[in-house]
Amino acid sequence: MDTLTHLIGGDAVTGERTLDVLNPATAQAVRRLPLADAAIVQRAIETARDALPAWRAMPPAKRAQVMYRFKTLLERDAQEICALISEEHGKVLDDAMGELKRGIENVEYACGVPELLKGEYSHNAGPSIDTWSNHQPLGIVAGITPFNFPAMVPLWMFPMALACGNAFILKPSEQSPSAANKMAHLLHEAGLPAGLFSVVHGDREAVEALIAAPEVKAMSFVGSTPVARSLYEGGTRQGKRIQALGGAKNHAVVLPDADLDNAASTLIGAAFGSAGERCMAISVAVCVGDETADALIERLAPQARAMSIGPGTEPGHDMGALINASQRDKVAGYIEAGASAGAQLIVDGRTHPLVESSPGFFLGATLFDRVTPDMSIYRDEIFGPVLCVVRVASFEDAIALINDHQYGNGTCLFTRDGEAGRRFADQIEVGMVGINVPLPVPVAFHSFGGWKDSLFGDLHAYGPDAVRFYTRRKSVSQRWPERSAQEAAQFSFPS
Ligand code: NAD
Repeated sequence: MDTLTHLIGGDAVTGERTLDVLNPATAQAVRRLPLADAAIVQRAIETARDALPAWRAMPPAKRAQVMYRFKTLLERDAQEICALISEEHGKVLDDAMGELKRGIENVEYACGVPELLKGEYSHNAGPSIDTWSNHQPLGIVAGITPFNFPAMVPLWMFPMALACGNAFILKPSEQSPSAANKMAHLLHEAGLPAGLFSVVHGDREAVEALIAAPEVKAMSFVGSTPVARSLYEGGTRQGKRIQALGGAKNHAVVLPDADLDNAASTLIGAAFGSAGERCMAISVAVCVGDETADALIERLAPQARAMSIGPGTEPGHDMGALINASQRDKVAGYIEAGASAGAQLIVDGRTHPLVESSPGFFLGATLFDRVTPDMSIYRDEIFGPVLCVVRVASFEDAIALINDHQYGNGTCLFTRDGEAGRRFADQIEVGMVGINVPLPVPVAFHSFGGWKDSLFGDLHAYGPDAVRFYTRRKSVSQRWPERSAQEAAQFSFPS
């Protein structure tokens, strides 16, 4: 079994406290991971501090050159990165490739950093006064990332943070850590000077050390809502800039005029892709009218039963294992709770043959009908392959239901009615909206973020918001008075 290391200033650093990283398809340990303490975090901070001045002074166009090379290297080693993701996370290889490609889009966007940092200029903002605003880097920034996107979510963060002239410390999920080390090696190969990107592995202890460190000026977090909230509160108390993206419960509304065949097949992918372990997974289908619900279930149930489930590293499967035994048991517990609360269990993922026959953390796809808002399967983020159908009488009821939910990450409407689509996009209290697009994850030149308990902070992840998050604005006003002019003191504010 390999032992991973922290990567600090180009050095491989080990530690005494360790954790086994498991392959969810076999339940076997595949790597041993060191867990950082405050001293290791401090070492990464000091290395970053030493490397920063030269990087900050480097023209943005030169920093962008590192990103161009990094993109090419990510593409060169894509298969290797996806194999690591699939082995530690459990998702199928095609899905790992999808996440990597969406991540690479963010590197491409960061290649445009000279344009993005150009700033604003006003000639003669006052008499002979020129004013310009520019964006300067914050210094040392950190990212804390979840298990479910080992490449894409870190790539939301560090390419832009680095391109803007910062140093970045990444604390990846301890459950899927290897992609981070691989990306650190590629950054080094791309010519990033040592010290500017460190990978510090660990758990709560490492995160708390980053929060406590005054040298760390900003933190980007993606993970569950309780941790997001506590990191936001703890970080802002320390005077840091924080963006903390949390959990989700994403609804798709199906109107009677929707193209039901297409809605059903896209919903199957959106609900069960990556075993439902996506913050944008659709976990609730809200059907307007009983006829719509009956017709949708008729289409969903056979597709849910027919899904091919198996190790993500084996080609041809639709869905792999869940991340660990406790998550698999938690999801199975929700299925039990939903059935006991009176929801109609149409497809029960617990009966899939792999649940008994494999040592891995498998569950089949589960479909519930007649779910009501008081049930835990409706209220909570399950983060597994469970799709709940809720029946409502009207479009207004569907909008009110979604607006009442604590989470507001993504949502989608299936309809052929443009007026309904427009109204939905306007009135729904959710940060990312799809009209006939079940997973409305914005492209890299827009920004990504939910509302309500799905995001704590002001700025969304990646895209234009990332430039603002990883920089601070400075306004400079300048004039060059004529040498001969004698200026009198002015005591009133110039108007
Ligand atoms: P998690 O909150 O358990 O862990 C996320 C990160 O925080 C990890 O790096 C982990 O080591 C660290 N962490 C865990 N507990 C901590 C604590 N008490 N103090 C400090 N740090 C701690 O989340 P996860 O299980 O890795 O990921 C799944 C969650 O992430 C789901 O809720 C999912 O919706 C959410 N997620 C959200 C988005 C989004 O964009 N909103 C994207 C992906 C995942």
